[in-house]
Amino acid sequence: MIIDLHVHTRRYSGCSAIEPEDLILKAAQRGLDGLVLTEHGILWPDDKLAPLRELASTHGLVLLAGQEVTCLDKGTRQDFLVFGLDHSYGAGSSPEDLIKTVHAEGGIVVAAHPFKPSRLGVGYHGAGELIHSLDLDGVETLHPDHDDQARQKAADAAKNRGIPATGGSDAHDLFQVGVYATRFEKSVTTIQELIEQIRSGNVLPVNGAGRI
Ligand SMILES: [Zn+2]
Ligand SMILES: [Zn+2]
Repeated sequence: MIIDLHVHTRRYSGCSAIEPEDLILKAAQRGLDGLVLTEHGILWPDDKLAPLRELASTHGLVLLAGQEVTCLDKGTRQDFLVFGLDHSYGAGSSPEDLIKTVHAEGGIVVAAHPFKPSRLGVGYHGAGELIHSLDLDGVETLHPDHDDQARQKAADAAKNRGIPATGGSDAHDLFQVGVYATRFEKSVTTIQELIEQIRSGNVLPVNGAGRI
């Protein structure tokens, strides 16, 4: 099962141009099996998500919601994909506090694009070397802003830590949907099942064609 774990829509992410309904159609066209909406600091409310989930299921897609939380810590900016928190987190201060909160509530945290170059030209817009020490549940290795070297560094760190690597498109425009995604060994229909599969390491990052 191929799921794009990292997608933004214009409904809750001002920086995205994607209408949710278009997203579902595009994902179906691309042959994805599922999508996780990861708006910035916002979890889709269940009542707003329900009609979209229905639309998705008519196209054979599973639609789930997590969120992407930005931590502004010591002058740096780190992004994390959060799955299983039942409320919007907003922005974070320290990654440690975020991870502690999410774990206490039964969720998981994946470092988003840890080695995405910062627009300031120095350091990363991502957790960077912190992925070696933070209590993460996964590392996003395949991401459009990761070059081969960034990918390798992220993959090596995940391997050393014994945590899974994931892929996501971070789509803000329709053409990006599903360029990278994550392959799940088992079928996933709820965020809880998705969490269990990531925790058990039964996932692999893949490119748009479903290959590693
Ligand atoms: Zn991000
Ligand atoms: Zn993002």
